[in-house]
Amino acid sequence: MTTAQPRQDLDVTATPLALLLLGREADPRSERGVECPGDLPAASDPDLVERARAAKEKLGDKVFVLGHHYQRDEVIQFADVTGDSFKLARDAAARPEAEYIVFCGVHFMAESADILTGDDQKVVLPDLAAGCSMADMASAEQVAECWDVLTEAGIAEQVVPVSYMNSSADIKAFTGKHGGTICTSSNAKRALDWAFEQGAPGATKVLFLPDQHLGRNTAVRDMGMSLDDCVVYNPHKPGGGLTVEQLRAAKMILWRGHCSVHGRFSLDSVNDVRERIPGVNVLVHPECKHEVVSAADYVGSTEYIIKALEAAPAGSKWAIGTELNLVRRLANRFADEGKEIVFLDKTVCFCSTMNRIDLPHLVWTLESLAEGNLVNRIEVDKETESFAKLALERMLALP
Ligand code: SF4
Repeated sequence: MTTAQPRQDLDVTATPLALLLLGREADPRSERGVECPGDLPAASDPDLVERARAAKEKLGDKVFVLGHHYQRDEVIQFADVTGDSFKLARDAAARPEAEYIVFCGVHFMAESADILTGDDQKVVLPDLAAGCSMADMASAEQVAECWDVLTEAGIAEQVVPVSYMNSSADIKAFTGKHGGTICTSSNAKRALDWAFEQGAPGATKVLFLPDQHLGRNTAVRDMGMSLDDCVVYNPHKPGGGLTVEQLRAAKMILWRGHCSVHGRFSLDSVNDVRERIPGVNVLVHPECKHEVVSAADYVGSTEYIIKALEAAPAGSKWAIGTELNLVRRLANRFADEGKEIVFLDKTVCFCSTMNRIDLPHLVWTLESLAEGNLVNRIEVDKETESFAKLALERMLALP
């Protein structure tokens, strides 16, 4: 096994998580790298669609299948509802008669669904290796260490944590415990407005977890802050790689995390597509880098992207900077209306962990449940749940 060595040029040590092969080995601190224990049907089985249909029918109202927008079409066809992570968690909570919530998404989404659903409802993730690399970039230990750094700098009392929905239950609980709120990509500005209203006027700072890009884009683009108001806390460096003076001067302390899918889009992707398709509208997700968001025509969450394309006139051209499964589905859906929709980048850009959930895993899950075997349950412990719920409820109460 390779030992992680500090990279001299970067002055950081690679996280051991990066060495795990997806779907192999187990690391209790990671959402990834946990093998699915089941005997999966072969992907080549021609009866998979029929088997999924039969098992779902047998389960009837006992099962409610949620499909995140970034899931494959082969899975989405069995979803009772589709949406982003927060909408799906709320949809699940609105179906108390469903004993099993099968979440076709990633681990942190299933955790959120467990937090928001009743005690007698069981949330199931068809493949336990379906984690989120962004959520993995902020562990509970790292965030606790960061809080110590802020305390030593004498600013912890001024800091309100705001955590993106795309974070583990532990991070949501930390946020709830320290008076903060959760946000989504749709309500990040409202969450930041709320956070800056807490405490003495002008004194509050926000610790934004774990997506630096959403935090920076919201602060600079939507709230008129400058890039200099933001600092990046690197959990792999002592003191976050920041001086006490930098921490004290900052308004936004951004956690050094990002989405490996949206982080791939570059300014070159935007310039290339404008050259290739004259008159194209560039529409990107706020998890993209600041330079990409600044160069785009429109910026918004997955729900915003869908609505913008629904409202787009026939004959319009669009380059979309978000996950490829969703872009392809939208391109097919609107092709008949004469809307040309392309993926922003030239290279393929699926979310690899989202793609862990495939038809064999879904069939195995539904058939297991139909036979009375509860598999791959995601359950958040009571203490974590109560603090995480507090943070989620603060978000629900946002004006
Ligand atoms: S698209 Fe990005 S944020 Fe969403 S699950 Fe995949 S890695 Fe995580």
